[in-house]
Amino acid sequence: RFITLEGGEGAGKSTQLRALAQALRQRGIEVVETREPGGSDGAEAIRTLLLTGGADRWSPRAEALLFAAARADHVEKTIRPALVRGAWVLSDRFLDSSRAYQGQGDLTDADIVTLHRIGSGGFLPDRTLLLTLPEDQAASRAQARDGDATDRIGGRSSDFHRAVSEAFVSFAETERARVRAVDASGQVEDVTARLLAAIADLLP
Ligand code: C5P
Repeated sequence: RFITLEGGEGAGKSTQLRALAQALRQRGIEVVETREPGGSDGAEAIRTLLLTGGADRWSPRAEALLFAAARADHVEKTIRPALVRGAWVLSDRFLDSSRAYQGQGDLTDADIVTLHRIGSGGFLPDRTLLLTLPEDQAASRAQARDGDATDRIGGRSSDFHRAVSEAFVSFAETERARVRAVDASGQVEDVTARLLAAIADLLP
């Protein structure tokens, strides 16, 4: 199975990814933990290009193409081989992050989906878990993680991040079979339990 975790900055995706992987391993499942941008040698090199040089280094179109290129390598080198041998793959971000973030530029959602079709054959997760958290709580979690920087790319406004969160929520509303919104507030263990409940139908 291929499961993705999505959400804005500070929602707790990386913490929950580790906890969920642990819970699945306890059930005897082989789990590969990965992330975007990155997750393969080539895609991690692209991650460095994306996260250094400031928000103005790349035009919105160039940025969308770099994310799609990184994802193509990630799918081919890491995700597909793991799924083929029967492992579960948990990814911290995937296509929906591109739709939410790169979708704020001048590309349409259909454009971003087209780039994904060209790059990765339109490959989709079996389930996408969207971690939702009120804006103020997300900001304080991200700050606790990064000090002052709540956004590793940086230079993007709170309006931008609000629009990203709204885009994620709209995916959960329109693609109910795949995308489940999960309340990310409260204790780590409680959130993990909610995530497990949202994939209960996929468990062996
Ligand atoms: O999740 P993480 O903080 O590692 O992501 C790194 C940075 O890349 C974040 O600033 C995130 O907003 C950004 N990003 C993005 N578009 C994506 C995926 C991540 O702008 N498709």
